[in-house]
This record gives sequence, structure tokens and C-alpha cells, in this order.
Amino acid sequence: MGVNGTTKVFALLGNPVEHTISPFIHSLLYKECKYNGTYNPFLVPKGQLENAINGIIALNLEGVNVTVPYKVEAMKYINEIDLVAKSIGAINTIVRKDNMLKGYNTDWIGLKQACEYNDVLIAGKDIAILGAGGSARAAAFMSYLEGAKSITILNRTVEKAKAIISDLESYNNDKNIQTLKKSFNKTKLSYGKLNEYEKLNNKLIVFQTTSLGMYPEVDRMPIESAEFFNKVDFIVDIIYNPKVTAFMKKGKSHGVKVSNGLGMLFFQAVKAFELWTDIKLRDEQLKRVFRELENYIYTKES
Ligand code: NAP
Repeated sequence: MGVNGTTKVFALLGNPVEHTISPFIHSLLYKECKYNGTYNPFLVPKGQLENAINGIIALNLEGVNVTVPYKVEAMKYINEIDLVAKSIGAINTIVRKDNMLKGYNTDWIGLKQACEYNDVLIAGKDIAILGAGGSARAAAFMSYLEGAKSITILNRTVEKAKAIISDLESYNNDKNIQTLKKSFNKTKLSYGKLNEYEKLNNKLIVFQTTSLGMYPEVDRMPIESAEFFNKVDFIVDIIYNPKVTAFMKKGKSHGVKVSNGLGMLFFQAVKAFELWTDIKLRDEQLKRVFRELENYIYTKES
């Protein structure tokens, strides 16, 4: 469907935006749903984010995604923030209803749905999160809301892991957050350095959220020890380029089930599309579009 006078316009605000694959993902969703939309990356110069967000209403955009480095700053310039996004401390999606802008975080939903897509449930499980940046926050809050039995965050800079854990601890006394939590069981919370994996339980689900192993530094990984991998049942490495990271390869060699970060990226885009359009894709549609995305990305890469 070509762009015409009735095409709904969406955008990505970030810096840099050159390597984003979000326009392609959204174009697949538009095609699948026969939706007349267009999704465009906008490189927002430093200091121009407020103007760019004001432009959503001025230019009659339907909605936008916000990416690095603006996921935190963008919260200052909108009217309302969804409760979970506020708890995570970052937004990646802005929904416009008339002249009001509301911010959401769909990264955590993307990760949750990527786990479900792999038939992995978080409730009652022991979770280890490697890294303590923005995406680790989304992984931690998702695991907390889904009712994990325990969450341990290991990071090079231990203070950052501690800060996320103390935020989670504070939600034990927050009635609004507790209503969103799937189970009433208390989640055991702890943190440490990357080499403190001896404190982890067995049968772990691991979210690898550091940037180690991302193209072009494909040989790097945060933990290499066999002792660690022997404790693990399932790994999501949220990197998706390369398709199989060094960390995933090592996990596979220890019999661990693995998944890369393309699922998280795809499902966060699907959730944003749903929030903007109120269109919900059926399971078979999601599978079809995701297969098409994988074929495109990884055939192009090889
Ligand atoms: P971030 O906030 O910058 O955090 C980066 C994390 O990596 C920090 O924990 C940092 O540790 C750790 N790290 C960086 N270099 C390291 C090193 N040499 N040794 C040990 N740890 C190191 O980044 P982010 O936004 O969370 O993103 C992290 C990765 O996830 C990126 O590769 C990004 O592309 C990917 N991502 C994927 C999705 C998806 O949908 N699949 C979504 C978001 C992000 P320190 O705290 O010690 O610096």
C-alpha cells in the first residue's frame, strides 16, 4: 500500500537511528493487517527532544517510539506515564489521544512475550539477569511482575545492580504495583558482580542484557565458566546481531535452550502497534510475520 493523504504516520525518535530495523518490522505489521501506515526514523539532534515531542501533535503523528538515548528524558515532555513504565523509569512508546501524550514501556512486554513464544514461563522460576542497564531494568520488572521465585542481578558495576534491586524491594510495599503482580508469593531479590554466579540456584532462566557479544565484537561474553552454564535451563540473549551470540553458543554446548533478542524486539513493536491502532494480531499472524522478519534479517546477514 503506497503513502497517500490518509496514511497514518508513525515515527522513531532517537540518535543514532541509522541501523534501526523497526521501520521494516512495522511495515510487515501494516502489510499483514492491511493497515495504511508509514513508520519513519527521525534522527533527533541533542537538545531537540522537547521540540520533536511537541511535533507529534503539531504534525498530527499517530504515535512514536523513543529509543537511545532518549528513553528517560522523553518522560519529561509528555502528559501521562503508564504505571509500569514509571516503575521501570523509561518509556519507548508514546501514544497520542487527541492532544494528550501518554508514555508506555513495551520492552518488558516484548521480553515476556518472547519467553512465552518459547514456551518459557517466569512464574515460580529462578531468574538471573546479567547487566544492569536500561534493558536489565525492563527484564527485572517483567520477572518481578510475572511472579519469579527469585531474581539475581549480576553486573560489572555492582552499584547499578543494587539500585535496580532496591527499586524492586520498594515495590513490595506499593499497592498499585502489587495489583499488577501475577502471584502473591514474595520474590527473593539479590545482586552481585558478574563473577559471583556461585550464589545462583540451578534450573535458572538467564537474561543476558549486557552489550557484550554484539556485532562486531562477536567473541565477547559476560561469563564463560562451565560451572555457571551447568546451572542454566534457558537463556535469552537480548542481542540479535549476530543471530547466535558467543554466549548462546556456549550455552548450547552445555545443553541449554537458547533464544536471541529478535523476539523481544518484534513483540515490543507488536505491542506498540496494538497501543496505537487497537488492532490485535492473532497467534498465526504473529508467527507468520515473525518468520518473515527472521528470514529477512538473517538471510540478508549471511
Ligand atoms: P545500557 O543501558 O548501556 O547497559 C549496558 C550494560 O552492558 C551494562 O550493564 C554494562 O555494565 C554492560 N557492559 C557493557 N560493556 C561491558 C563490559 N565490557 N563488561 C561487562 N559489562 C559490560 O544498554 P541497554 O540499553 O541495556 O542495552 C544492552 C544491550 O541490549 C544492547 O546490546 C542493545 O542493543 C540490546 N537491546 C536489545 C533489545 C531488544 O529488543 N532485543 C532492546 C534493548 C536493548 P556497566 O553497568 O558495568 O557499565
